Amino acid sequence: MSSKKNSHKTAQGSALPEYNIALLGELGVGKSALTVKYITRRFIMEYDPDIEDTYTKQDVIDTQESLVHVMDTSDKVDSEADRYLRWADAFLIIYSITNSRSFAKAKEYLENVTSYLKCNNKDTPVALVGNKVDLERYRKVGKEEGNSVAAEYDCSFYETTAAEDYEYVEEVFHGVIQELQREKDRTLPLQPLYISEDKTNSLLLTPGSTGHFSLLRSRSPKPPLSPEKKEDKVTQRKTTPSFRLFNKSFKIFN
Ligand code: GDP
Ligand code: MG
Repeated sequence: MSSKKNSHKTAQGSALPEYNIALLGELGVGKSALTVKYITRRFIMEYDPDIEDTYTKQDVIDTQESLVHVMDTSDKVDSEADRYLRWADAFLIIYSITNSRSFAKAKEYLENVTSYLKCNNKDTPVALVGNKVDLERYRKVGKEEGNSVAAEYDCSFYETTAAEDYEYVEEVFHGVIQELQREKDRTLPLQPLYISEDKTNSLLLTPGSTGHFSLLRSRSPKPPLSPEKKEDKVTQRKTTPSFRLFNKSFKIFN
């Protein structure tokens, strides 16, 4: 699948923001399970370990409709790291909390990704993610260990599971996208404000897609949505996610 940035339009004709997220980590840590859980809300027990693909989901993040592209990488072809290094707007580096070797491998990925970003002067968000917390009784990597490695590389840290509630996985993807939005807001120049002299019109302060606020004048001001109505709108969007799934070889268990 190719990703053409800003080529997707809303019903109103405005472009949706797009985010490319790459999942990296040792074979077996749950990259595919996390990807499929995020895209479909389902847990896939068996997934071809050699498949590397990119999936797209239309999602609502903090009321902002967005297109999220997820690259589920396959660890074995790492000689071509450029394919995800150049593509990604954010990285999720995954290990399994039940496997110390996968944690060591995650540190290697952190090292490689962060030095690439440093060399290229990029402020791309990176998150270290300990997966399989539903298998607590088999834990080999402590939460504190994960936390301190993440702090060492100045990246965020999550523990999650693809095998339980969707919200655990959503928190990770939304967390890294929110970080990305904050980074974009920080680096974007502020838009100048236009204020008309016409006193018959009211002023509206409206947030732009990146979270910036712009001051607009409305000729027929509408009353703001009541908090309940806003809530309804968000819930409705959240319960009807649309996504495009390009790979059809999943076995779905719940
Ligand atoms: P990948 O090689 O990193 O893509 O790993 P997969 O997504 O193929 O997962 C490897 C194995 O771990 C599969 O048997 C999955 O069912 C299992 N798995 C993945 N995530 C979880 C999780 O959060 N909890 C549990 N219990 N099993 C998981
Ligand atoms: Mg996989």
